[in-house]
Amino acid sequence: MSKLVIANFKMNGSKDFIESWIKDFVAEQKSANNVIVALPSPYLLIFDNKGLTLSGQNVSNEESGAFTSQLSAEMLKDCGAKYCLIGHSEARQFLRETNEIIKQKFDQLKQESLQPILCVGEPLQIKEASKTTDYLTEQLDLIDSNQENLIIAYEPIWSIGTGLVPEINDIQLAVDSIRCKFHKPIKVLYGGSVNSSNASSISDKTDIDGLLVGGASLNPKEFAKIAQLC
Ligand code: PEP
Repeated sequence: MSKLVIANFKMNGSKDFIESWIKDFVAEQKSANNVIVALPSPYLLIFDNKGLTLSGQNVSNEESGAFTSQLSAEMLKDCGAKYCLIGHSEARQFLRETNEIIKQKFDQLKQESLQPILCVGEPLQIKEASKTTDYLTEQLDLIDSNQENLIIAYEPIWSIGTGLVPEINDIQLAVDSIRCKFHKPIKVLYGGSVNSSNASSISDKTDIDGLLVGGASLNPKEFAKIAQLC
């Protein structure tokens, strides 16, 4: 079975851009069964039922109420999302999200039967101090080790958008350390500067269950190529 391939558009695109992205992607890709697209939330409803599985990029840790600017899990579901990224390093950094807040987001999504894609990953100074495993363990500590159907995306922060990719062995070590925290089988994805030149090597030489793709996903032909390589 093909591995999961997730496009993270981040804060990029427009209605016209996404319309033409879908047209070009579909022309390249026969089956989009293993593909999920994390669109900016205003576009979820517009592109629901267009043959793509949709994901949100973030969600509120609260259920509803006086939380101006935020989006609830129920709203995302209402707009067609089946998945939602949480704990992305850009949200941790720019929105100052803590592990506690991210766990609350995880619970909100579960309550609405949306599938969380929980992003974890270490900054450069942690990698250089050889403390990646401890760092990942701390990021995952609040998640119940008996949780079913977990999807974790391992995304080293220093690799996101930089063109730098960890050694294959280092990806596998991180993935192993994530898997061994849980008593149930989980899906672990890799994200960080994936493109069509490195996707098959990362996918074939590790036991990852898929890829999370940022920058390269904005090019529909490039993204279709990555999806075919997995
Ligand atoms: C990301 O932001 O999730 C990501 C993996 O970005 P990029 O592929 O651009 O490194």
